[in-house]
Amino acid sequence: LSEKSIEESSCIFCRIVSGQIPADRVHDDGEIIAIKDVNPQAPTHLLVIPHRHIKGVGDLDDQALMGKLFMVAARQGGLLEKGFRLVVNNGNEGGQTVDHLHVHVLGGRQLTWPPG
Ligand code: AMP
Ligand code: ZN
Repeated sequence: LSEKSIEESSCIFCRIVSGQIPADRVHDDGEIIAIKDVNPQAPTHLLVIPHRHIKGVGDLDDQALMGKLFMVAARQGGLLEKGFRLVVNNGNEGGQTVDHLHVHVLGGRQLTWPPG
C-alpha cells in the first residue's frame, strides 16, 4: 500500500464516501457527497465532502473542485431564502478534526458572529 492509500483507508470521510461507514447522505453526484453531521450545531448541519481525499483547504490543487463544493453546499437544505453559513475549518487552531476537506453548511436558526 502506498502512503496515500494507508491515509485514505483510515480516513473516516473516505470510508463514508466508499460506503464502509454508514452516513445520512443527502447528495451524491459522483464527485461530491453531502451528509448530515452526527453532532449538529444548528437545526441544519450538513457536511459537503469531495470523494477525493484532500487533507484540507491548504492542500487544495483544484480550483474547480472548490467552486463545485461551494455551489453544492449553497444549494443544500433549502436555506437560500432565509440564509445560512458555509465554514471550512483548517488545521489545529482552525478547529479541524477530520483531515479530509469538507464544507460545513449551517442554518435553520439565527447564527451569531463571531464564531467561537
Ligand atoms: P471539522 O471539525 O471541521 O473537521 O468537522 C468535522 C465534523 O465531522 C464534525 O462536525 C463532526 O461532528 C463530524 N463527523 C465526524 N464523524 C462523522 C460521521 N461519522 N458522520 C457524520 N459527521 C461526522
Ligand atoms: Zn479521506
